[in-house]
Amino acid sequence: MTFNELGLGPSLLKNLSDAGYTAATPVQAQTIAAALAGGDLLVSSQTGSGKTAAFLLPLLQKLTPNASVARKSRARFAPAEPKALVLAPTRELALQVMAAAEKYGVRGQGLKAVAILGGMPYPKQMQLLAQNPEILVATPGRLIDHMASGKISFAQLEVLILDEADRMLDMGFIEDIEKIVAATPATRQTLLFSATLDGLVGKVAQRITREARVIRVASSAAARAKIEQRLHRVDDSQHKGRLLDYLLRDAAIDQALVFTATKRDADRVAGELSVAGFAAAALHGDMHQSVRNRTLDALRSGRLRVLVATDVAARGIDVPTISHVINYDLPHSPEDYVHRIGRTGRAGRAGLAVSLVGHAEGITVRNIERFTRQPIAVDVVAGYEAKKSAVPVRAKPRRAPPRGAPRSEGRYAKPAPKAAANSGAKRERYAGR
Ligand code: AMP
Repeated sequence: MTFNELGLGPSLLKNLSDAGYTAATPVQAQTIAAALAGGDLLVSSQTGSGKTAAFLLPLLQKLTPNASVARKSRARFAPAEPKALVLAPTRELALQVMAAAEKYGVRGQGLKAVAILGGMPYPKQMQLLAQNPEILVATPGRLIDHMASGKISFAQLEVLILDEADRMLDMGFIEDIEKIVAATPATRQTLLFSATLDGLVGKVAQRITREARVIRVASSAAARAKIEQRLHRVDDSQHKGRLLDYLLRDAAIDQALVFTATKRDADRVAGELSVAGFAAAALHGDMHQSVRNRTLDALRSGRLRVLVATDVAARGIDVPTISHVINYDLPHSPEDYVHRIGRTGRAGRAGLAVSLVGHAEGITVRNIERFTRQPIAVDVVAGYEAKKSAVPVRAKPRRAPPRGAPRSEGRYAKPAPKAAANSGAKRERYAGR
């Protein structure tokens, strides 16, 4: 479907054509007209589906007619009264939304968008809020702080957007979200985007939306097929290190994103890779925002070939030249796996996702396969084979292997009480407040 058919104005259409977009993605085709029509929407869509444009385009169109009038005629110390609020789980994702708003023409529409994020200095944020932006993009924790100090009022809010709502709930933001929602007018339009609409997200969605239309956008088989998935069995962290070094020497790699479970390991692995001659750096929640921004700039400009990151820090990274995602450590949940591998195969390109799997992590792999309904092929590199073999798993009759999965996928062991590779090291928790 072309964007012309979706009711967008000429200047937005021009920006989309300048951005090289020729057709709407499925989530855009289903969401844009519905959002323009005004009702609440619950949209299940994966990362990389084009969901940001699916909520920003109708928003920019809707807010345009009265843009900047309110901004000019307000009292000097009045609180900011945004018309739209986009809530995002992490700083990186929020900055990504801001970049997309610029690309789709927020300024050309006469609108002002600002980001209110954890890790930014408060005085700078006060200055931004003093401009009374129409659009606020925020992480929940920092937004609550500004609401409490009276710097923001949602009395004029027309549209509330929750991006990656499942992630925000995973990160424990439920109370903050409910507080924010309670401060907005009941007349608002609410658009909730989430990888899943089941479980807690579904319950929260019910509470904060009215007669919402549900749009489920299956990630198309073709889109998923663009990301090839493999796994290598590894004996221990030394084996992981050797194999990682080998894999990263593949000339087919444009840029690689390596995921570790802990901040400490992100630093350690990035350091080891740098010593081995790779243009590598770490990205995690303990790093100052300015350093994180510089690192991401280096990645985007191609000065960095390997970024070693934790889940939280990598959320929202949209760099089309990331050709490979390597799970040095497996993620905590299958949802995180999908988010991770979605960092490659962007903008229509192919990608390869490789996981290094310890012998006791078979059940984690099986859970991922069940969630994605795709088997992950086992790969072996001559000279880098695992010495131990996977511990056989006792058959569990009630748990069928994923559809289409090869029989061999059932050969893994139950996990040890603590994942051996990272015992003693804490997984990174949210650090964006
Ligand atoms: P998102 O899921 O919003 O993070 O978008 C994923 C990527 O797809 C981003 O790089 C967007 O710039 C790109 N994108 C979004 N919509 C389109 C489209 N209609 N055509 C081509 N690329 C798009």
